[in-house]
Amino acid sequence: MDRFFMQKTCDRCGASLDGGRIMSMFNTDCICLACKEKEKARNDYKEAVRAELDELKKGNTNYKGIKG
Ligand SMILES: [Zn+2]
Repeated sequence: MDRFFMQKTCDRCGASLDGGRIMSMFNTDCICLACKEKEKARNDYKEAVRAELDELKKGNTNYKGIKG
């Protein structure tokens, strides 16, 4: 998780992460909140959330996302 907290810019758009950072639901990208909103609007976002929950239930806490 170190890189996640150290990096200063969004992996997706390159914007500053001063306004907040969050892990992508689709891979391990550290993204800004604007990119997260765009991700939530994707048709397959719910599918990605469900897939991650399924992995957590199986005990896989290292899940890297459906695209990762
Ligand atoms: Zn971004």
